Amino acid sequence: MGVYMVEGTKNCLHLEGLRAASGGSYRCPVCGESLDGGGVAEWVREAEEARDEAYSLDKGDRFAEIARQEAQREVYRRRRIMYELENVPRVVTTRPEMILIIHDAEAATYGCRIFYKEPRQAGSVEQVSVAAVLETILELRSDPDPIVRLIAEKVEEFHAVREKLTGEGETAPGRRVFYANELRAVG
Ligand SMILES: [Zn+2]
Repeated sequence: MGVYMVEGTKNCLHLEGLRAASGGSYRCPVCGESLDGGGVAEWVREAEEARDEAYSLDKGDRFAEIARQEAQREVYRRRRIMYELENVPRVVTTRPEMILIIHDAEAATYGCRIFYKEPRQAGSVEQVSVAAVLETILELRSDPDPIVRLIAEKVEEFHAVREKLTGEGETAPGRRVFYANELRAVG
């Protein structure tokens, strides 16, 4: 039984999934292995092969039955990870056309509205409210959503300008619009 157990002793199963990394690759946060798109497909195929092997075992064996179920679950798990990764790049390429940031003095927050030119992907961020505190803004810089990271970058920029002006006794602007040419490629 347990084709995976044998494999598991030498190979990481990437149990926490894979994360999109630079250069279009995907990285396991546990073992650090980096796979390209073909590598991920191969990884799914390996699980399918292991499952087929498990299915060829004695049908009456209870342990073999458990191994079969386990193998099937692993196939589903890897496929789900692959599908999710395949969906990420499309969201990532939807670069906003414009980001509007409005400082709300009373609430001490920045309200951000994001405008997209192209038909945006379902689930794209459209509005974000961030506390006007550098710590919170910096926290968003490591958000899993690349659009949120981009917004955080711009809020940080605007926040720095406002802080500087306020510190000099000047009136800081309450709003700022960032156009596409001021936004780096998302990803
Ligand atoms: Zn791994």
